[in-house]
Amino acid sequence: MTKIDAKYIFVTLKRGFAVIQSLPGFKDILPNETRKWQFVENICRDIFESFAYQEIRVPILEKAQLFSRSVGNDTDIVQKEMYTFKDKSDQFVTLRPEGTACVVRALIQHHLIHEGMHKFYYIAPMFRYERPQRGRFREFHHLGVEAFGESSPYVDAEIMEMNAEILKRLNMDVRVEINNIGCRKCRPSYTKVLREYLMGKKELLCEDCQRRLDTNPLRILDCKKESCKKITAFAPSILDYSCDECRNHFNEVQRLLTKMNIDFVVNEKIVRGLDYYTKFVFEVISDKLGAQGTVSAGGRYNDLVEDLGGSPTPACGFAAGEERVIELFDYKEDDKFVDAVVIPVGKDTSDFSFLLTGDLRKEGFKVEFISSGSLKSALRKANKWKAKWVLIIGDEEIKENTVSLRDLEKSVQKKVRVEDIISVIRQGLDE
Ligand SMILES: [Zn+2]
Ligand SMILES: [Zn+2]
Repeated sequence: MTKIDAKYIFVTLKRGFAVIQSLPGFKDILPNETRKWQFVENICRDIFESFAYQEIRVPILEKAQLFSRSVGNDTDIVQKEMYTFKDKSDQFVTLRPEGTACVVRALIQHHLIHEGMHKFYYIAPMFRYERPQRGRFREFHHLGVEAFGESSPYVDAEIMEMNAEILKRLNMDVRVEINNIGCRKCRPSYTKVLREYLMGKKELLCEDCQRRLDTNPLRILDCKKESCKKITAFAPSILDYSCDECRNHFNEVQRLLTKMNIDFVVNEKIVRGLDYYTKFVFEVISDKLGAQGTVSAGGRYNDLVEDLGGSPTPACGFAAGEERVIELFDYKEDDKFVDAVVIPVGKDTSDFSFLLTGDLRKEGFKVEFISSGSLKSALRKANKWKAKWVLIIGDEEIKENTVSLRDLEKSVQKKVRVEDIISVIRQGLDE
């Protein structure tokens, strides 16, 4: 029996056998939400471009080693969270878990600094295999910027100013925490002191942190487990071990933040979950998002370009989690996607109505053409879509060269000459 029984398909669909759902942690962004996303993205684009950043689009898939060499082999991202697999030519590839490494790769590959390009932004999906929870997805989006070639604290200040501007434009209630995590010269001496301090308390640390003690003790400061927090609360501060260069840089950034009236607190426990940061780092945190409250984060990464094979190039950047911004931001715009609906009702009125629809669209109106069904069902659709205008075209209207124009908001209807339609829609119908 090759013929598929329609009744059988219906039954299986109803039972849920044949329905394919999206993967856990992957989310459809439906038309009733995309408007809010576009609004946020437009604001960020505006702000990034006003600071002379240019958009860059890099591939979603990269060689796996790009991230183990940049983000760091001992980070949670590389150890546990990356979508890494062998492609058909047997090489390990990774769905990018973050954007900075990809932009640095592109910078080096295309000699972008020599081409006069040094400040970039991206609005792009990232992928991490994490436990799905509120506001946290396996596919998520970053609004990110990266600036290359400048070691001056003005770039760090600029990054913070962009952040503040986004938060202000979106009216978000957050706090800014900053830290200085030192450089290649000064960090090793702190790491040594920290390791010595923690060694004596090794048994009290969580399993992950016991491992980090050997590989990357700095990350222990970032552990969210209460037992580890209790121990690190009294750990020596990284700020007491920084070299003069790092200390001066950090002081300068703080001076500029104060001058720009950007509120902040210094939190010496902020180390970020990625290995490439140097000197200035920051997090923007909201208390409304539960334990995972970081809305945006970033800092300086002066060694990364060199570590990935480029010439030494200081750099600074940040990324905001778009899902979290969306969750926090109270969006009040209306969600209208159509201004007018054109409904042919006569025997031979469809072609004329269809062409008129095209004329209205060329004038910049959002217009839907309803090609079949009764007038009643067409009006029901127009109401559901919250259209303001309905244009009804029957045989009589064609004969008279008019359109019956109805304003659904005011509940008025008038016959309008075809050549006057656009100006009447612009000005409104008299009651
Ligand atoms: Zn230093
Ligand atoms: Zn821990």
